[in-house]
Amino acid sequence: MQTVYDLIIVGGGPGGIGAVVEAKELGLEKVLLIEKTENHSHTIRKFYKDKKRVDKDWQGQAVELEGNVGFEDGTKESTLNYFDQLLDDESIDSKLNFRT
Ligand SMILES: Cc1cc2nc3c(=O)[nH]c(=O)nc-3n(C[C@H](O)[C@H](O)[C@H](O)COP(=O)(O)OP(=O)(O)OC[C@H]3O[C@@H](n4cnc5c(N)ncnc54)[C@H](O)[C@@H]3O)c2cc1C
Repeated sequence: MQTVYDLIIVGGGPGGIGAVVEAKELGLEKVLLIEKTENHSHTIRKFYKDKKRVDKDWQGQAVELEGNVGFEDGTKESTLNYFDQLLDDESIDSKLNFRT
C-alpha cells in the first residue's frame, strides 16, 4: 500500500535526524527519513575515529539548542546510540540505501 508522508527529510545525519524527530514530537504523524547509505550518520561513521570525543560546542562555537531534541557531549559510539534511540523512540520510518 502506498504511504503519503507529511514530511520527508533527505539526509540522515544529525541535522536530518534532529529535524525528523522534532517534527514527529511536534505532531506530524507520517514522517520519513531518507539516507543514501546503509545507515544513518554516514559522516560520523566514516570520518570519526573509534571512541572519538564528540563535543556539543565544537571548534569554539557555543550552541544553544532549541526545541525538544537535546544533545550532550559524548563519544562517537554514544552519539550513534543516542541517534538510534531517538529514531526508535519516535518510531521514525526510514528508507536506507536510497539516494534522491
Ligand atoms: C572528523 C570530524 C570531527 C567532528 N567532530 C565534531 C564534534 O566533536 N562536535 C560537533 O558538533 N561536530 C563535529 N563535527 C562536525 C559534524 O560531524 C557535522 O557538523 C555534522 O555531521 C553535520 O550534520 P549534517 O546532518 O548537516 O550532515 P552529515 O552529518 O554530513 O549528514 C548528511 C547525511 O545525508 C546523507 N546524504 C547526503 N546526500 C544524500 C542524498 N542525496 N540522499 C540521501 N541521503 C543523502 C549522507 O550520507 C549523510 O548520512 C566533526 C566533523 C568531522 C569530519
